[in-house]
Amino acid sequence: MTARDCTRCAELAATRTTVVFGAGNADAGLMFVGEAPGANEDLQGLPFVGAAGKLLETLLAEIGLSRAEVFIANVLKCRPPGNRDPRPGEIENCTPYLIRQVELVAPRVVCTLGNFATKLLRADATGITRVHGRPEIATIGSHTTRLFPIYHPAAALYTPRTMESLRADFHALPGLLALPAPTPAPGAPPAPAEVTPPASIPVIADAAATPDQLGLF
Ligand code: URA
Repeated sequence: MTARDCTRCAELAATRTTVVFGAGNADAGLMFVGEAPGANEDLQGLPFVGAAGKLLETLLAEIGLSRAEVFIANVLKCRPPGNRDPRPGEIENCTPYLIRQVELVAPRVVCTLGNFATKLLRADATGITRVHGRPEIATIGSHTTRLFPIYHPAAALYTPRTMESLRADFHALPGLLALPAPTPAPGAPPAPAEVTPPASIPVIADAAATPDQLGLF
């Protein structure tokens, strides 16, 4: 199975321009998981190249990191038409790719951005408002990591209180990254089915050269 020419979701496969697999440092200690590509991500083939991505970059700079040092992926690798919410069947189809990415990057901290990534990787329906800023240990595929749910940057762009929470949570990241790697719980679930990533993972430096966009998704 390769993500680049995936046809598991007929509608997404027919309407996308590019599969947005993910970008950044494939050895990163910190991995972000967003929701799904938007219009610009779909065109450029890179995640978080719009206004939400700029905010992500600003917040990263505040804690002394650049986007080239982290890995950024999404729950869905294809843009839902009209930026509608991901559908349960689409999330199910795409999850093996995400799990494999977590296993390959093997980050110390997986930071979920917003409800979709948080609910998926916590395997729980509790919303981001209740769980943001609370780190927990989770085993994703075969990799045990610290899961840290935070608000989606797009949600913070127009809501100052959400921005405050997002910033406060972000500033907890260096402390989490400094903790020893969590140990796998006994009886951790086995690795999922084999997934082949694209031959090369695009580097985020490409995104820096692209013009700003106004759309959030
Ligand atoms: N929002 C997301 O969740 N992912 C992107 O790649 C861009 C915006």
